Amino acid sequence: MTEYMSFDDEGRCTEVRCKGCPTVIAAQAFPKGNVRPTQSYAEVAIEMVESNGLLSKHITGMCVDCAKMMHAESIPSVTELALLYATDVEQWRCNAVRGKMDPTEITMCVARQEARRPVRLLED
Ligand SMILES: [Zn+2]
Repeated sequence: MTEYMSFDDEGRCTEVRCKGCPTVIAAQAFPKGNVRPTQSYAEVAIEMVESNGLLSKHITGMCVDCAKMMHAESIPSVTELALLYATDVEQWRCNAVRGKMDPTEITMCVARQEARRPVRLLED
């Protein structure tokens, strides 16, 4: 699985790409600044079910076109949503490793995130 975030030598995020295509959805406003959403930035909300059965929401950034496609006639299947969610979990894990988080804690957090299951795409 490829990472959709780029980092500079000092570990700062420099660029965030869409998960569906190579469009940059957030970029550093100036060298060493924070990343800011570009005009292509959109959000997609997925309804999730927690391991205890409670519903929650997972919001993920995508480009405007891919977000539109997600909401178009071909409603994404649970498998597609699961893949999208897995990408976010994997990116979270990469960021945690990069941030030198305790490996035991990373494993626990990832297990907690993986226990959540996507249910359906939420309308805006
Ligand atoms: Zn896209």
